[in-house]
Amino acid sequence: MHVRCIIRKRWQKNALAACLLLLVLLAFLWLRPGKAAGERAKKAAEGLDAYDFQLIFRPEESTLAVSMTLDYTNRTGDALDTLVLRTWANAYQKEATSPAAIDALFDACYPAGFSEGYLTLEGVWWQDQVAAASYLDEAQTTLAVAIPPLAPHQSGRLTLRCQITVPACAHRLGYSQGIWQFGNALPILAVYENGNWRTDAYSPMGDPFVSNCANYTVGLAVPAGYQCAATGTCKLDKRERDGWHYTVNAPAARDFAFALSQSWQQATARQNGVQIAAYAPDNPSNAAKYAAKALKVYEKLYGAYPYETLTVCAIDFPFGGMEYPGLIFVSLPYFEADQRDSLELVLAHEAAHQWFYALVGSDQVNQPWQDEALSEYAMLRYVRQVYGQNAYENLVITRVHAPMRERIPQPLTPATPITDFGSLDAYFSVVYGRGAAFLLAVEEMTGKLDAFLQKYCDTYAFSLASRQDFSLLLREVTGEDLTPLMLDYLDTLM
Ligand SMILES: [Zn+2]
Repeated sequence: MHVRCIIRKRWQKNALAACLLLLVLLAFLWLRPGKAAGERAKKAAEGLDAYDFQLIFRPEESTLAVSMTLDYTNRTGDALDTLVLRTWANAYQKEATSPAAIDALFDACYPAGFSEGYLTLEGVWWQDQVAAASYLDEAQTTLAVAIPPLAPHQSGRLTLRCQITVPACAHRLGYSQGIWQFGNALPILAVYENGNWRTDAYSPMGDPFVSNCANYTVGLAVPAGYQCAATGTCKLDKRERDGWHYTVNAPAARDFAFALSQSWQQATARQNGVQIAAYAPDNPSNAAKYAAKALKVYEKLYGAYPYETLTVCAIDFPFGGMEYPGLIFVSLPYFEADQRDSLELVLAHEAAHQWFYALVGSDQVNQPWQDEALSEYAMLRYVRQVYGQNAYENLVITRVHAPMRERIPQPLTPATPITDFGSLDAYFSVVYGRGAAFLLAVEEMTGKLDAFLQKYCDTYAFSLASRQDFSLLLREVTGEDLTPLMLDYLDTLM
């Protein structure tokens, strides 16, 4: 063998080995779990209540069979003889109580006429003993369960079985355009505050629900071919001809929502270890891309994204988007090719809710600005970061200055409870637009809004921040008492 040949062979061997090593390294970098992805939620999971849901979806009957256990610890500080659950699915039973049946929404939500959705209760048990349960409201969205006295720090297990009948309705809960939408569908515990359980009406305006973070494990049986977009990390663990089965794990989630369809395509992306999936009948890839872009911007501004996964899915409803923990519902038209810019803004707003709603909860009923205006401001901040000052200023004109000049027929401010709003247009202008104007004013006066919002997300992660918490922390970070500014923008009629 010629020496030169041996050297060349060796060189070839080394080059091959180097290439292989590089490939392995690249594969490792691509596939390795992000060092921080989901860590915040996993850490926060210790010491939270735990829900286990076993669900059977039967599309031919329009039903979802629900078997729930809740391992509950009394952290209220009071002895309790009642647990209160929210059963919002029942709001869809009558036109008078359905959030989708107001004049402004009815035709869009019920194109074939009103359709009933409701929850049929089969039984409730506390520590394996039958428990008396009764609805507290006419809409049957508040279910009180009597339990033997439970002292502070004591624990127990609540078991509930029910069946949800899904309405033919293009709303958070409903079936439309081949998509089964389960937003606020499953029963969850009401929030206990100041000695009382919250029993807010499931009103048509805004996001009429407040909840505490808990750990969710969910088993879901569906007919073969149904894809599942859900809060949390969702695994298809059985794929047989007679049916598929998903297991979902969602630690420290403020709620659990999901949607099912046989007509979605899937696209994926990754951002700093977070697995992003988007589902839509067409063009899911832009949604995955924009969601990843938004996470990148917000992680820098507001701290690590809390979960392992973020899922976006196409939904048929008359809103742009709707946020759930680790899950974003986006209205179908936004996936059309010529709607890319709007899709990006919707996703920038909804992704911000992962910090301002999912991570830091607030009173969405009585202080709707506290998650909506923050998410709207974050969206503007995203545009400045990604597209520069000019794009940002142009958007501020339409999203903030225009609502400030608008004539609003009702006496409304960003801190008006959502139940007092008579129109969706007024709700968007006042809560989103004028609420964001307050935040722009804070930034202009102090230059410390980013620093404040990062501290806000750290301080109140996985809990509920009241308006007072917001204002005290704002004073601490900015060193200024901004109470007059808050009163002016949030409570004073223009
Ligand atoms: Zn929003």
